Amino acid sequence: MMSSMTEPGSESENVVLPADSHVHSQWSWDALAGSMEGTCRRAVEIGLPAVAFTEHADFTPWSLRSELLALVPGDWQARVNDGVLTPPPLDLDGYLACLERCRELFPGLRILSGVELGEPHWHAARSTALLRAGGFDRVLASVHSASAGAGFAEISDRFRDRDPAGVLRDYLAETAALIIGFDAFDVLAHIDYPVRYWPANAPAHDPDDFQDEYRHVLRLLAAAGKALEVNTRVPLHPKILAWWREEDGQAITFASDAHDPARLADGFAETVRVAQAAGFGAGHNSGGFWGRVLGSGAGLKASVLLGIGDVR
Ligand SMILES: [Zn+2]
Ligand SMILES: [Zn+2]
Repeated sequence: MMSSMTEPGSESENVVLPADSHVHSQWSWDALAGSMEGTCRRAVEIGLPAVAFTEHADFTPWSLRSELLALVPGDWQARVNDGVLTPPPLDLDGYLACLERCRELFPGLRILSGVELGEPHWHAARSTALLRAGGFDRVLASVHSASAGAGFAEISDRFRDRDPAGVLRDYLAETAALIIGFDAFDVLAHIDYPVRYWPANAPAHDPDDFQDEYRHVLRLLAAAGKALEVNTRVPLHPKILAWWREEDGQAITFASDAHDPARLADGFAETVRVAQAAGFGAGHNSGGFWGRVLGSGAGLKASVLLGIGDVR
């Protein structure tokens, strides 16, 4: 069972921290400050029961505008050709060997292997081959890209010439296409990813303005039997979590999406309370999936559906 720990920096009230189910280490091409060993050490320090290293497998090349090219970090410059950034493949052997080393170093911590597939519905053959080779405990599916001109751009770049509402609607439509077009994943990552880059001078993101689009994605995800990730980079709006429950969503995971050890389990204490209020609770497994608490209303004890989200 998980031990009761207080998240550093939180109020004195004890919160049982769930697993961090979405973390990057040095094996992710964009995690320049990543460290698997440092993240494990931090997990033990703060009393996290489990951590999943879901490294990037990005197959979509991004066209970069000239003004962005100048901002590409030195380590990435070699990946840019003719204004197109091609993310490198995941070094699977190196990653798996490092994971084994960390499992030996930190026997009390549950360390899950994982991968975050970018637009796997566009790259089904490569995604499937990687999954077969990796045998991952946890597979996240993500949309990070959108069509732009003759190529593709990272979502953050789309705000430069498109209104925010349009960027989010396109993103949610692409996410729906992912769920319909690709099945070999466990968890949908960051359903609200574009909100991270929402322009400060635009009207604030209000999920109600996109309720139909969010609910459409949530309904497809629930019907496909997948889990919804509660990503804390931008805290997921409680309304979206409530809609997930209403649309028959069964399971959630918690995700810091940390790219360096210091950000591990960021914001989890508050997010746990939001998830509990939305009717989700810790299950019997320590793999990080929370299930629906039966019934509704406050004060319900964990009559959590069993059998959801068991992992190896
Ligand atoms: Zn992502
Ligand atoms: Zn990520």
